[in-house]
Parts: sequence; C-alpha cells; structure tokens
Amino acid sequence: TLPTIHVVTPTYSRPVQKAELTRLANTLLHVPNLHWILVEDSQRRTPLITRLLRDTGLNYTHLNVETPRNYKLRGDMRDPRIPRGTMQRNLALRWLRETFHKNYSQPGIVYFADDDNTYSLELFEEVRASVGGKNAIPGWEGAALPHCKADEPLEGAEYFLVHWRAAANDFCLPQILVWHTRTEKPVLVNEGKKGFTDPNVEI
Ligand code: UDP
Ligand code: MN
Repeated sequence: TLPTIHVVTPTYSRPVQKAELTRLANTLLHVPNLHWILVEDSQRRTPLITRLLRDTGLNYTHLNVETPRNYKLRGDMRDPRIPRGTMQRNLALRWLRETFHKNYSQPGIVYFADDDNTYSLELFEEVRASVGGKNAIPGWEGAALPHCKADEPLEGAEYFLVHWRAAANDFCLPQILVWHTRTEKPVLVNEGKKGFTDPNVEI
C-alpha cells in the first residue's frame, strides 16, 4: 500500500483564509492516500473551517491551538523572531505521536504545508518516494519526528530544511516543486456598501 502523507497545515482567520484553503484543498484532492491535519490558530474550531473540511471530501483531522497574544504580531509588523504557525505544527506532531505508536506498521510521512504556498502534484510523489527506499523511515518515533525539534520555533532556512528532514534525511531535489507565494491583502473598505459584498456573507 502507498504510504500515507500526513499534510500539516497551520491556519488563521483573515479575509483570504477561505480562498487560500480552497486552493490548497483543491490541490490535495489530487493526491491519493493523503491525510490533512489542519490546525487552526484560534481558541475554538470555527464553523467556517469545520464546514470547509467537511465539504472537501478529504480525509482530515481538525485541531486548534491559539498562539498566545504576546507572540502575535502587532498590526502588519513582522518580527522574524516570532514564530508563525509553530505551535500549530507542534500540536499536529503531538497528535501524530499519540495516534500512531512506535510499532505502528503502516508507513507514513509528515509534510508541513502552509496554507498560502503553491504545491506541485509532483512534490507529493517525490515525498512519498522517499519512504520505503533507502531513505526509509522505520517508525514515527524512530526517525521522522525527532528531527522536528518540537518545541523550538522553526523559521526561514532552518524551517525549510526541517520540512525536508522530517521527510527524509538526505533528500535533495533538482527542481522547484513548492513556491512561497503570498496573497495580497484585499482592500475591503467598501464592503457592506451598495454593490459590494454584504458583511454578513462568509468570504
Ligand atoms: N499562521 C498562523 N498564525 C499566525 C500566522 C500564521 O497559524 O498568527 C500560519 C499561516 O496560516 C501559514 C503559516 O502559519 O500556514 C505561515 O504563516 P505565513 O504564511 O504568514 O508566514 P511566512 O512563513 O510565509 O512568512
Ligand atoms: Mn506564507
């Protein structure tokens, strides 16, 4: 059987959230044997995400953990020392450890996919090809997860490296399969006015 790819995605509420997740879900729907672990950065699991997940038809797990206020960015300021999505990824790793034990026999692989990036379908096949071969991961505890330094913020180059270490130790790709795309913040000053979106409509 194909190893399951556990795709871990942190996500937070903002005007483009539903659009981003719709696009990501549409990508993931093309990938066989995939399990999506979507972790909301929120106090509660929201109805918007609950519905979105239910309607995709994907195999998923819906979790939530709120990043403490003092870690949050003030306004649009981006402090590179402040982790974005780290607590959410760590919660997903904990969930995986608790759900799949050391001796769990099914092969699986963890991939961290932010909600705003663009993923080629080839990526998932490359990721999957890395288990079962010489880069085999013997078990959840054995090799895959300890590389993820669960309690440290992972950012920038290190973060990217850890993505790949989580997948396989000496993994190296000759082509770009992920793009760090960013969606422009929409200007919503006219919303609610005549001819524009009703503010009660879910966007
Ligand atoms: N994220 C989050 N809470 C935040 C900020 C970001 O859960 O307060 C998530 C976001 O949805 C994304 C990931 O963390 O999946 C990385 O965030 P972002 O794309 O804003 O940062 P980047 O790494 O691109 O600078
Ligand atoms: Mn991003």
